[in-house]
Parts: sequence; C-alpha cells; structure tokens
Amino acid sequence: MLIVMNKQATPEQIESVVTEIEKRGYVARPIPGGDRITIGILHNQGPVDAAPFLGMPGVSDAISVTKPYKLVSRECKPDDTLIQVGDVVIGNGHLTIMAGPCAIESESQALTIARHVKAAGAQIFRGGAFKPRTSPYSFQGLGEKGLEILAKVREETGMPVITEVMDDETFDLVESYTDIIQIGTRNMQNFSLLRRAGKAQKPVMLKRGMAATIEEWLMAAEYILEGGNTDVMLCERGVRTFVSHSRNTLDLSSIPVVRKQSHLPIIVDPSHAAGRRDQVIPLSRASVAAEAHGLMVEVHHEPDKALSDGAQSLYPEQFVRLCREVHAIFDIFHPADGELA
Ligand code: PEP
Ligand code: MN
Repeated sequence: MLIVMNKQATPEQIESVVTEIEKRGYVARPIPGGDRITIGILHNQGPVDAAPFLGMPGVSDAISVTKPYKLVSRECKPDDTLIQVGDVVIGNGHLTIMAGPCAIESESQALTIARHVKAAGAQIFRGGAFKPRTSPYSFQGLGEKGLEILAKVREETGMPVITEVMDDETFDLVESYTDIIQIGTRNMQNFSLLRRAGKAQKPVMLKRGMAATIEEWLMAAEYILEGGNTDVMLCERGVRTFVSHSRNTLDLSSIPVVRKQSHLPIIVDPSHAAGRRDQVIPLSRASVAAEAHGLMVEVHHEPDKALSDGAQSLYPEQFVRLCREVHAIFDIFHPADGELA
C-alpha cells in the first residue's frame, strides 16, 4: 500500500503517518517524487487496512500496489528516476553511452581504448577487472590491478567508470574504486550480493539474468531499493533462446515494458546480446529507437588479441559510427529546444 500525502503535508504529519505504520509492525518508506511525498508500506504479510491512514491529517489517498515489486514500480513513484554520476545524468531525456573493453588487460590497452571511445562520444568507460568466465581456464581479469587501471583512466580522461562486482568478498574493494557497480547476468538473483548492493553508496547497474522474466528482474532490483539504495539502473543484455545466429536474443520488447512498469532507467548492452560485432550497430540503433536510456558497448582497438569477447567488440571507427547514428535517432524523439517535435 502507498499512502499519498497532499502537497501541503508538513514534516510532522509525514512523521505521524510513519509512526502509525511502524506501530502496526510494518516498514514505512517515504518516497519523494514530483511535487508530493508518498509513503510506501513494506513487509506487510496480508492486506493493509487503509481506513486508519485516510483519516490522518495531511493524507490525501491510499493506493494498493498491485505488483509484487513495490519500490521499483511506477505505481509507487510515477516520475522517472534520474541518476547523476559525476557530470553525467542517466535516465529519461538523456542518452548515456558507456563503452570500453570487455576486460581490462593492461594500462596501455585501457587508456588507448578510453581515448578512442571518449573522442567518439562515450560518457562512461566500462571494463571488467573481476570477470565471470564460463571456463576456469579463461582469463579471469586483473583483479585489483584492473581496478587501479580504471582509476587511472578516470583520472586521465575524466570519464566515470563502471565495472562488475562478482561477490560479497570483493564488494568493498570494487565499490571503493568504481563510479557505478555492475551486477552481471549470472548474479542477478544472488540475493546476498543484491542486499549488499542495497547498502552501497554508489549507483548500481543490474543486468537481466539470461533466463529471467522481467518480473524476476524487477524483483531483484527491489532488493537493492529495499536496502536503501535508490540509484539503480537496469540493463537488458539478451536472453537465452534456441537460436545460433547470435549469442543471446536481445529482448527489445523489455524496453517499453520496463519503462511502463518501472521508473528506473534502462540501458541496453547489444554486445553480449549479439556475441558478434556485425549485429552490434543495428541492435544499438533499434534499442535507442525503442527508447532505451543508454547503451553499454564493448570496444577494442585490437579485438583479435582481446583476452575476452573479441568477436563482439567493435573497432574504434565502428564505434564512432554507432555514436553518430544512435544520436541521430535519439534526436528524433528529443528535438533541441525550439525545434518542432
Ligand atoms: C560484462 O558486461 O562484462 C558481462 C560479463 O556481461 P553479462 O553479465 O551480461 O554477461
Ligand atoms: Mn564481455
């Protein structure tokens, strides 16, 4: 249930509602947004009786939340969440492009790629330091050394960085270096990791599990918001299907569904969806046309020598084209001031 306060509600009136909720053994979560405050009632095991709240000063309405996810739902928070990372804003009205190699391999590799992607228009640099690999014999990432290189990239280029956290043990370390914490497809339902992410002081990008429904994905995001971290973005990266013409199948329809059901930004990773570079630009264009809030793209200056995911990594000049084309598409929906829509 959501208690909607009227616009003039005082802090004391809000506090009284919170106290009333807590007296019943529930958890109260004030949700600021737009021009009114709503208070979410969480952890109720059965239906909540709205009557006692409706009679309280400052309360304008009580709405039952029909979805199993609460804090991530639009019912709870109608206005879009915008996430600020340095100078970059992620969310509705913005197109945020994150790019970089699958894995950080060396300082010169990371810096070379970072300079290329920045010049092409990327705002955030990606690169894995702790890599979840199918085979234990594959390159596992440089670990802390990789994080140090990411910090160097940020220092030299001014770009915020995003990198994946794989487990609870390395969470503090990864959080101390990165600007955005990435939770990968394989960990989407790692509930202890999600709870830890809920306590993080940095924004989190939660990738969709490769066999997860949208509801399961939003429920996973709910764990992070329930823990107190509201800076969460979602990332569609393709789901497992029977096809062999691509590594995964990019579920473009998840974009309008997520935008309708949730206020959280949705980013698309066309690289892991495709698994091959010739599909990355078309899928990027389609994602932006479907109104994704951003893209995360793998780029490598020497993909044949890449230690992971070379086949899906764009050459820098291809990434230049990608940026140009997706911005042109984005501009169709977001004409500059003064232009007709
Ligand atoms: C990645 O982005 O580096 C990655 C491993 O992606 P995913 O979790 O989507 O496979
Ligand atoms: Mn990769």
